[in-house]
Amino acid sequence: MNVPQKQILIVEDEAAHAEAIARAFRKGLSNAALTISGSLQEYRLAITRGLRPDIVLMDLNLPDGSAMDALAAHDGDQAWPIVIMTAYGDEKLAVAAMKAGALDYIVKSSETFAGMPQVVERALREWTLLQQQKIMEKSLRESEQRFRTLFQDIQTVAVQGYTEEGTIRFWNLASEKLYGYSAAEALGRNLLELLVPPEQHEALRAAIREMAATGQAPPGGELTLVRKNGSTVTVYSNHTILRKPGAPAELFCFDIDLTERKRAEAELQKLSLAVEQSPAAVMITDPCGVIEYVNPRFTRITGYALEEILGRDADLLTSVSLSPEQIRELRKILATGQEWQGELHSRRKDGGSFWESVSISPVRDPMGTITHYVAVREDITERKRHEAELEYLSTHDELTGLANRALLQDRLEQAVRHAYRSGHLVAVMLLDLDRFKFINDSLGHAFGDELLRSVAQRLQRSVREVDTVARLGGDEFVLLLTELTAAENARLLAGKILGSLESPHRLQGREVTLTASLGISIAPYDGCDVATLISNADIAMYQAKKNRGTFAFYAAEMNQRVCETLELESALRLALERQELFLHYQPKVDLASGRIVGCEALLRWQHPERGLVAPAEFIPLAEETGLIVPIGRWVLQEVIRQVKAWQGSGLKTPAVAVNISARQFRTGDLPHLIRKILADSGLEPGFLELELTESMIMDDPAKAEMTLRAVKDLGVSLSLDDFGMGYSSLNYLRRFPFDNLKIDRSFIRDATSNASEAAVVTSIISIAHNLGIAAIAEGVETQRQLAFLRQNGCDTFQGYLFSKPLPAEQFADLLREDRRLPDAWLQPACSQEIC
Ligand code: C2E
Ligand code: MG
Ligand code: MG
Repeated sequence: MNVPQKQILIVEDEAAHAEAIARAFRKGLSNAALTISGSLQEYRLAITRGLRPDIVLMDLNLPDGSAMDALAAHDGDQAWPIVIMTAYGDEKLAVAAMKAGALDYIVKSSETFAGMPQVVERALREWTLLQQQKIMEKSLRESEQRFRTLFQDIQTVAVQGYTEEGTIRFWNLASEKLYGYSAAEALGRNLLELLVPPEQHEALRAAIREMAATGQAPPGGELTLVRKNGSTVTVYSNHTILRKPGAPAELFCFDIDLTERKRAEAELQKLSLAVEQSPAAVMITDPCGVIEYVNPRFTRITGYALEEILGRDADLLTSVSLSPEQIRELRKILATGQEWQGELHSRRKDGGSFWESVSISPVRDPMGTITHYVAVREDITERKRHEAELEYLSTHDELTGLANRALLQDRLEQAVRHAYRSGHLVAVMLLDLDRFKFINDSLGHAFGDELLRSVAQRLQRSVREVDTVARLGGDEFVLLLTELTAAENARLLAGKILGSLESPHRLQGREVTLTASLGISIAPYDGCDVATLISNADIAMYQAKKNRGTFAFYAAEMNQRVCETLELESALRLALERQELFLHYQPKVDLASGRIVGCEALLRWQHPERGLVAPAEFIPLAEETGLIVPIGRWVLQEVIRQVKAWQGSGLKTPAVAVNISARQFRTGDLPHLIRKILADSGLEPGFLELELTESMIMDDPAKAEMTLRAVKDLGVSLSLDDFGMGYSSLNYLRRFPFDNLKIDRSFIRDATSNASEAAVVTSIISIAHNLGIAAIAEGVETQRQLAFLRQNGCDTFQGYLFSKPLPAEQFADLLREDRRLPDAWLQPACSQEIC
């Protein structure tokens, strides 16, 4: 093993001594490297030259000084161990040298020289130990200093060091700040007397004693201490005890000021109490909308207690007034960190709903991240109800509950806007009761009020739900009728409304009859804004007042039309009585033989002033007024009377077709009527035929089928008139017991000039034949049409080509003459002309 060399420096002026020592080393310490200096100067020179001895053996007295000088130069902090060698009797000096830093000394003698290797080995061991101890002590000192500095400077913890008796030994800056005493004021004073209120002295002293005795610090806790200025401060106090061997125990106290925390706690407490007792409902959710807290008010409003709603999704209170789209929008706003405010119609636990004003705000942490949402909700159901009530009161007439002027204005504006888009018309009807003032004055205001209420009810009942009835005040009402397709409808409705007021009002044991005058303006013809429409309806109403109990349009031409219609209507009512109605007969001709096989009775009205009025003009009016029912009955009776008369005069008559109107078909019992008339007259049913149109049958096919079958069972023939104009389904056609299918005149008119019309005609003929029904063409005016029909297998025709509708006597002449189609027209050659 390679033992490291030991550098040994011998400082000795006596060569014999030096040699004796060297010899001893050569003998006893083989790895020693010896250097010998003869004086202090040489010693210094060797060091300066870089010699770093492991140990120095130095004679006390040297020619150029004493070993004490060398020790003094090191100033007690030797870099290497120095062992002093003295002459016998110099021991006192040697002791002084040791005090000055020498490690050991020997008294020179031949024995001590011989034992030098052992001395050196021991000295080196001791030196190593000493060095280690020194390092430890140094680091300990540094560490203590470090901690002291740390405690000294720490800002938030007030640190006090004190003895077992309580005498303050350490007082850091934070203690100065917290308690108001400077370190100079505090050090040396008793901690208890300085900070602790007298009543706690005894307890604290006991605690300190206990701590000192056991070495165990008591657990930390809150203390209320007194500052220099007399104020108190609550601190969280922790203790520790420091024991150093041989030194009295040192106690340390670490106080943390709780003032801020207490304040925050109090603040929090205050806030949570405020939230808890808030008159508004509060709900706190996490960022995903999961409920974390609701306050008692919330529970009272919604019925949900905290425990049953905790952890559930806030969606469960989803507003009934928000669409899924609006809910998505709300979430989007909140996710961007904005506040949301609004009024919601929300659901209670019991399923009921309530109105609430809601404000939802995000809560952010110091980093700006949203951690919660706070929803403050206030039940505003009562307010809403009140608002609705106010709204109702501000928009309705108190006496009748009808809309008032403001609401009317609103609705009218809307209706006009809507009509503009949809192309419909809006009618504004201003209705004023006739002689109301007289009734009011004579029968009293209470009666008047009741009468107004009764009128309001009747008006309300006579219009549709979408229409508005308003009272403008007094006895003035406005009806707003929307979505009309024609001004004509307004006329019908006006008649109905006035009619609804006609029957007597029974009030307070009395019976009063009342009429009203009504003015009509129509948007957009008579204006598009509310003021104009009402003012024009008003003008019309004054017009109507002239003939009490009537209505008038603002537009002159409408009035004209109304007047004419009304005139026509009353004239038509009298027409039957005055025998102004009569029938023409138009023959139906067989296309194969060219002979008359039937005829159609067509109604005519000889008006005293207007002359002959066409059915197209008066039949729709008769339909609308219901006059068609007695008129239709008259036609049937007249036809049967006529046929009987012809037969009575020996004429061979064909079957006569009678047109039946829709109303006639629907109302009354047609089979019963026909059976009765036939029975009364004794006419063979085969001489009667009925013509009906598609639309009247298709209205209610099941009922139509029953009626048709009942008629058919009587032995009467049936024709489907104007075929091709309606929308008969073939399926139904199959079920109805028709004998003839009459192709509408419009198709015949164009059949020879328009290929598609021609195709319609040919397909109608084949449909009829497929169903086993005869096809009749109406309105045949030309030979070309006739040839076309013949060529396509049509069975019968009717039209001016053969004969116009004729008065009964003239038609009888045709029968008597047995008038036929000219033979030439029946030749197949005719068809060439067409092709
Ligand atoms: P409709 O039943 O289709 O009657 C045929 C109409 O065509 C008749 O018109 C007739 O005069 C006309 N007409 C006949 N041949 C020709 C022709 O070659 N060319 C032209 N241009 N017209 C021709 P009218 O008499 O004016 O009757 C019109 C409609 O009035 C009838 O159509 C029918 O629907 C209805 N009508 C007539 N009389 C009565 C009736 O007593 N009761 C009912 N409810 N309706 C009737
Ligand atoms: Mg007809
Ligand atoms: Mg017809």
